[in-house]
This record gives sequence, structure tokens and C-alpha cells, in this order.
Amino acid sequence: MIQIAIDGPSGAGKSTVAKALAAKLGIIYVDTGALYRTVGYYVRSRDTDPKDAAAVEALLPGIHVELKYENGTQIVCLNGENLGDKIRTPEMSMYASAVSAIPAVRAFLLDTQREIAAKNSVIMDGRDIGTVILPNADVKIFLTASDECRAQRRCDELNAKGIPSTLEEVLSDMRQRDLADSTRAVAPAVAAEDAILFDNSWMTPDECTAKLAEVIEATLAARRA
Ligand code: C5P
Repeated sequence: MIQIAIDGPSGAGKSTVAKALAAKLGIIYVDTGALYRTVGYYVRSRDTDPKDAAAVEALLPGIHVELKYENGTQIVCLNGENLGDKIRTPEMSMYASAVSAIPAVRAFLLDTQREIAAKNSVIMDGRDIGTVILPNADVKIFLTASDECRAQRRCDELNAKGIPSTLEEVLSDMRQRDLADSTRAVAPAVAAEDAILFDNSWMTPDECTAKLAEVIEATLAARRA
């Protein structure tokens, strides 16, 4: 079984590259951000302040989050309902970031993430995969890019999904979210000590995927030797 952890800030291209690498390696891609987005969605649907730790914690028993795969694509269900792109809005990004700082929420989602990695070879992306979820992962990559490149990518992605966005708005939201994610007390989004740091600012997704495939292959070969 192989475990590959890809962490990094928003818009670094983690999901695009991890999806392509999973297909190339014939393993499962796990998007852990979707789990926090799903909790955020439920909290929003209950008109609850996502920063109110006690109120959010009280809602957790009413949440059943399930990860499924249909034709190799991850589907996250909230109490049996596939939320699809409803969790991909800028508002849900902020809700996800707020609830993800609550220790009870992180503890609530821990087993779902570890269980899938215990049963399958995975490439998992998130913020704390190499540091907390899979500390013994075979390969750990911390993927990043300049703020401007990341914001441009996120902006293009949102516009393509029909969510009108400007670069200024996206850049400002992104910086706010990255600051909150990297400075929170629990599981901050930082590179693991043994992670390979990789800046893909000037690479296309294909170039980044090809380069990371080489890095992964070399790291796995070195571990086997
Ligand atoms: O990766 P994505 O942008 O979908 O993640 C949404 C939010 O969920 C992040 O801003 C972060 O606050 C949180 N998250 C996290 N730990 C993870 C994955 C996501 O705290 N492993």
C-alpha cells in the first residue's frame, strides 16, 4: 500500500495534480478539503456561526459524512446527499476554513481520512496530511506557488464554474484563508519537516504532474532500496 501526502495553500494546484497523479499511479485520490467544506455547509444550513466552537461541536452528532468513489471520482455525501458543487463556492471556502480551526471538527474527520488510507493506496491532498493524518506517508510534498498565480488560477476556476469572481476579491479571500489556516493552533497548514517543497508558479498542470511523478518515483525507489 502506498501513501502520498500533498499539502499546501489554496490554489496551489493540489487537486488537479493529485487527480492526474492518482490516475497515472492507479491509486485513489482523496480530497480532504471536501470534508471540511461539507461540515461548513451543514453549519451554514443550520444558521450557525462557524467560529462558535461550542455551537459547531453540538451540531457534529447530526452529521454523517461519507466518502464514495464513482468511476474513480470522489463523491462526498452529507447525510446521504451528494452535495456536488454546492460546497465549492467562495462562501463555503470561508465556512470550511472557520470550522477547520475547531479541534472537535478535526477529530471528527480524522477516522474517515485514516480509514480510507488504511484500506487503499492513496494520494491525499489537504493542509495537515503529512503532519497529522499520515505522518508516515511514503512521500510528502508541500506544493505552493506565488499568491498572484494561485489567485489567478482560483479565479479562472470559479468563473469557469459560473461563479463570477474578480482577481482582487479572490486574492484577498485567499490571503485571509491562508493566514487563518497557517496560524491556527491546531494542525496548522505548514510543511512537514520531511516534506519536499515544490513551487509550481511557472509550470502548467501537465509540467507539474510530470515533474512530481518523477519525484514520487525516485522517492519510492529510494525507500524500497
Ligand atoms: O482544499 P480546500 O480549499 O478545499 O479546503 C478548504 C478549507 O478546509 C481550507 O481552507 C482549510 O481551512 C480546510 N482544510 C484543512 N485541512 C485539510 C484540508 C482542508 O484544514 N486537510
